[in-house]
Amino acid sequence: MSSAPSEITSASTTFDIAAIRRDFPLLDRSVNGKPLVYADNAATTQKPNVVIERIKRYYEYENSNIHRGVHTLSEDATEAYEIARSCVKQFLNAAHESEVIFTSGTTESINLVAQSYARTNLVAGDEILVSELEHHANIVPWQMVCQQTGAILKVAPINDAGEIILEAFAELLSARTRIVAVGHISNALGTVNPVERIIELAHEVGAVVLIDGAQASIHTPMDVQALDCDFYAFSGHKALGPTGVGVLYGRASLLEAMPPWQGGGDMIKVVTFEHTEYNTLPYKFEAGTPNIAGGLGLAAALEYFMALDITAVMAHEHALLNCAIARAASIPQLQLVGTAADKAAVVSFNIEGVHPHDLGTLLDQQGIAIRTGHHCAMPVMSRLGLSGTARASFALYNTEDEVHAVFDAIEKVLPMLLD
Ligand code: PMP
Repeated sequence: MSSAPSEITSASTTFDIAAIRRDFPLLDRSVNGKPLVYADNAATTQKPNVVIERIKRYYEYENSNIHRGVHTLSEDATEAYEIARSCVKQFLNAAHESEVIFTSGTTESINLVAQSYARTNLVAGDEILVSELEHHANIVPWQMVCQQTGAILKVAPINDAGEIILEAFAELLSARTRIVAVGHISNALGTVNPVERIIELAHEVGAVVLIDGAQASIHTPMDVQALDCDFYAFSGHKALGPTGVGVLYGRASLLEAMPPWQGGGDMIKVVTFEHTEYNTLPYKFEAGTPNIAGGLGLAAALEYFMALDITAVMAHEHALLNCAIARAASIPQLQLVGTAADKAAVVSFNIEGVHPHDLGTLLDQQGIAIRTGHHCAMPVMSRLGLSGTARASFALYNTEDEVHAVFDAIEKVLPMLLD
C-alpha cells in the first residue's frame, strides 16, 4: 500500500515533502532500532534547522538583554526581538505590532486575559462561555476567575461526533455573556470549530471572544482581522518553534484599557514609591526579561512556514487525514473518537479491549510516537464516556508512508494486545 515520499502539486507551486523533511534533523533519527515515525504533533512539533540555527546564533553571537542597554549587543538584540514581533504580526495578519504580546505559551496567554481582562471587568452573575471540547488551559483559568469574581462558567455541549452544537451554543448566549472562549481546533479530537460563526454570534450579544489557537496556528489559514476575534492565543512549540514562548494577540482597544497582570521591569515608564506609570503596549504586558532566544526562534519558525505554499500544506495534511481515516476504518476493532465533518489531521481512537497506554508502549517499540490518555481534555473524555484515547496527529512533514506505518504497526501488535 505504501508509496515513496511524493511531491504534491498545488495550483501555484510544488510542495516538496522530501525537501521539507530534510529541514527537520530529528526526523532522521531512529527510536528503539526503528526509523522514527513522529505522530505526536498535537503535543509538540519538531523544529526545522533554521530555528535551531537561529537560537544557536543568538547565544553564540548576539546574547544580550533587550530594551535596556545602550551598547551594540543590546541594541542589536532589541532590534531582532522587535523584528520577531513584526514577523508574528505578519503571520497573524494583526493590524499593529503593539497587539502582539510575547508570553510563555498559550496557557500564559489565556491566564493573562483571565486575570487582566476578566478579573477587572466581570462581576457576580456575569457569564463566561466555553465548550465541552476545551483543553484544560481554556477551562481552568476561567474557573479561577469565576471564583474571584462570582462570574458563572457556562459550557456549550458537543454532539457525539465531537462538534459544538451551534444551536445550543447560541441559546447559551445572552446579555450576561461577557466572554466566549473556544478552541480553534480541538487537540483531543481534531474538530475544526466554526470560529467565524461563533465570533459573530458572540459579538451580537456584546461578548468578547478569545480563540485558543494552540492547535490551529500552522494547520489552518491564519488571519485575526478576518476572524474578527478579540484575543487569539498560540504556542511557539506547536508551530515549529521553541518551547517556552507563545503569543497573545489582542485587539488594541481592549489591551489599552486592561491593567497589567504582572509587575516588574520593562512594563513601566516611571517608578516611584508613590506612583508607578505603566509602559505602553505591548510592553505593559511583558514584565521582566523575556525568552529572547525563544522569540527569535519563533520568528524563524513562522518565516519558514510562511515561505511555504500554505494551500499545498493544508492539502497535504488533509490527504494524511483521509489516509489515516481510511486505514482506521479497515481495522474492525478500532473505533474512531471524533468524527467531525471538518477535521484537522488528528486521529483519536480506541481499540476494544485494549488500554491506550499499552498500545502506545508497543508502538513505541516499533519507533512510532503517538500520544495516549486524556490529552488534557478530561471533560471531552467524560462527555464521550471514555477515560482516554490513543491519538495520532500529523504535521506538514509527515508522509502517507508514515500514516501507513502507524496503522501497519497497530495491525501487527493487535494480536499481542488482544491475546
Ligand atoms: N490549548 C490547546 C487546544 C492545546 O492543545 C494546548 C497544548 N496541548 C494548550 C491549549 C496549552 O498549550 P501550552 O501547553 O503550549 O501552553
